[in-house]
Amino acid sequence: MARILAVGIATIDIINRVSHYPAEDDEVRALSQKQVRGGNASNSLVVLSQLGHQCAWAGVLINEPDATVVEQDFDRHQIDYRSALRLNQGKMPTSYISVSEESGSRTIVHHRDCPELPFAHFKNLAVTDFDWIHFEGRNVEELGQMLHWLRQHYPGIPCSLEVEKPRAGIEDLFNLPDVLMFSRPYARSRGFDNAQALLKAQSAPGLMTCSWGEDGAWLRRGEAIMHSPAFPPARVVDTLGAGDTFNAGLISALVNDQTPKQALESACRLAGQKCGQHGFEHLSH
Ligand code: ADP
Repeated sequence: MARILAVGIATIDIINRVSHYPAEDDEVRALSQKQVRGGNASNSLVVLSQLGHQCAWAGVLINEPDATVVEQDFDRHQIDYRSALRLNQGKMPTSYISVSEESGSRTIVHHRDCPELPFAHFKNLAVTDFDWIHFEGRNVEELGQMLHWLRQHYPGIPCSLEVEKPRAGIEDLFNLPDVLMFSRPYARSRGFDNAQALLKAQSAPGLMTCSWGEDGAWLRRGEAIMHSPAFPPARVVDTLGAGDTFNAGLISALVNDQTPKQALESACRLAGQKCGQHGFEHLSH
């Protein structure tokens, strides 16, 4: 068991299950709808908590009715959110998601009127209470201050950074975390059409992964690059949060002193298991 803090956003996800993804200007009826807590780092925490870790979240909560969706889910998974910054203005970030039964794909429209967690708030957290700190790669300016400060004052606390989307200046932070988790959309945005090419092009000293959907994931440590295939479930029903589950599996394995190769494989196994079910409940190694 490790104590893990994740810094990122919590969102409200309104998920419509549809038989197939509609064409533009088309109208389809949803097979079902549910409203759940989302957000990459908080998804990863829900998985980490089920893997037996003690989890805490730092992010922004707006004092409005929808925030209870987030709070109740954190409560249910014993995720400590006392470190959250609470604001009276704004709206919890909301994602409108269509999950296609036909392909398992998820298509997202996101609405946001909520500031990012500022460094000034982060630096007052009791970071020494944690064995691992995970960051979502957003708001590069504040994130940069957090990572520099952590490296300068607490170099012994391992930390990871999820790089899901291109953000101006994020590359300047790559030397700071112990683990960098890249996504396929990020790799593509940098002009790479495979994970290995992205990983080879990096000069950061830390461990790096790049997940690639049904092709599995790659990991680079020093000059060595290794691959794990995906572990497809009997039927792919929901790939939303596969990457967040992969990241949780990776962190859990590394914090439990597994080798990078073992960690890569167990992260892919866990993410594959997730793809075979809706949501993040009952996931374990
Ligand atoms: P994201 O959720 O960010 O789009 P990916 O699609 O790269 O992330 O998926 C992360 C991991 O989840 C992959 O490395 C793979 O192990 C697993 N995964 C994703 N899609 C599938 C799938 N269709 N079948 C089996 N495993 C999958």
